[in-house]
Amino acid sequence: MKAVMVDQRFFKDYSMEQELCAKHGIELVLTDVKDEADYIEKCRDADAILIVYSPTPKSVIDKLEKCKVMVRYGVGYDVIDVEAATAKGIAVCNIPDYCAEEVAAHTAALALDCLRKITYLNSTVHNGEWVAGAGYPIRRLSSMTYGICGFGNIARTAAKFMKNFGFNIIAYDPYVGEEAFEKLGVKKVELDELCRESDLISVHVPLNKSTFHLIAKEQFAMMKKGVIIINTARGGLVCQEDLLDAIDAGIVKAAGLDVLETEPITDPNERILKYDNVIITPHSAAQGVEAIGDLRRKVVEVAAAVLEGELPFNVVNKRDLLK
Ligand code: NAD
Repeated sequence: MKAVMVDQRFFKDYSMEQELCAKHGIELVLTDVKDEADYIEKCRDADAILIVYSPTPKSVIDKLEKCKVMVRYGVGYDVIDVEAATAKGIAVCNIPDYCAEEVAAHTAALALDCLRKITYLNSTVHNGEWVAGAGYPIRRLSSMTYGICGFGNIARTAAKFMKNFGFNIIAYDPYVGEEAFEKLGVKKVELDELCRESDLISVHVPLNKSTFHLIAKEQFAMMKKGVIIINTARGGLVCQEDLLDAIDAGIVKAAGLDVLETEPITDPNERILKYDNVIITPHSAAQGVEAIGDLRRKVVEVAAAVLEGELPFNVVNKRDLLK
């Protein structure tokens, strides 16, 4: 059997994956796909496809002749057309349980950076200024409300971290029962209330058709003046242009973004780069030696399990495949 890893450039040494594949009788082919035609040519006869960021649309999926499983290196699987894969009987898997602690820590780090102006003040010092109160006013953390959009693994871990700073925490997730909120001392609210009440908002929902631009002009208009926005989930969840307009309008005072609507930034004149109150990290919230090691091992294990006839818990289209 053959597994093709289509985003080889992301890692260096593949000996761990190669050994694991060999144990399961799988040949691991490492490559980088340039475009759809290249993707189809390299994966036409693959039994498994391992994907970091390469878009995997219907036009590619329809041309695959043997594929049984696609595994996304990560939690979000928005790069794969799951409907098209399901129609071809392909199991789509994610790795939902490798980096909640890292992404929650990154969320807290971006939030604290914006709240305490660390990056901003550091740049003023490097530019020859020594002004303790430079920039926007800082508020006491225990006087503030932290609103969490989505209340899954990462959000709950972030809530636990942030609780220690004394925030009042509220969260919006219509798919999670009251008990999970109560357990962490978090008040369950609707999205409108979250927008109106929060001094700090972070977003932790999957990107799909219904969550695209979940936070946009209408939501910014409801927010308190001086709110801080953190996004470590997916760029498409927060309308980037509306966010920058909200900063210009004095609604949002700072933002911390690990993800953008278009990644990577290629134009040095891009509007978002002109804002010194927007801190950007290059989609690195999940980084960490333990997390990435776990991720890479789990990707191969889940691909092998599906090829051996199992449907593990992280097959995201399991219900539809079993219909
Ligand atoms: P999760 O599945 O545990 O939680 C997602 C939560 O979102 C669920 O509780 C779900 O009920 C909720 N949700 C879904 N649709 C919603 C909606 N319309 N409104 C409100 N809530 C909604 O996932 P997680 O592990 O917490 O990860 C969250 C997201 O973070 C992932 O989907 C992924 O895109 C992103 N992520 C980013 C990185 C990174 O490197 N920056 C790493 C891992 C995950």
